[in-house]
Amino acid sequence: MGRVAKGVKCSVSSCGAEAVRSLSAEKVRATGLRVGNERRAYLCKEHYKEYKKKTKKDKQVEQWRYKA
Ligand SMILES: [Zn+2]
Repeated sequence: MGRVAKGVKCSVSSCGAEAVRSLSAEKVRATGLRVGNERRAYLCKEHYKEYKKKTKKDKQVEQWRYKA
């Protein structure tokens, strides 16, 4: 987890931007981003933002379920 060496590219298909974050590919796939079958996923700034947004939404949905 965490920082990524310089020159590593974003794992999302059709994106070639420089990666800023390394995450578990499983978690990234769970948000609907296409990152292939590697164990680690590298995300660029934009896709990391998207990833964070989606994980946040998932958490909210879970909370709503608890209340219901
Ligand atoms: Zn990207």
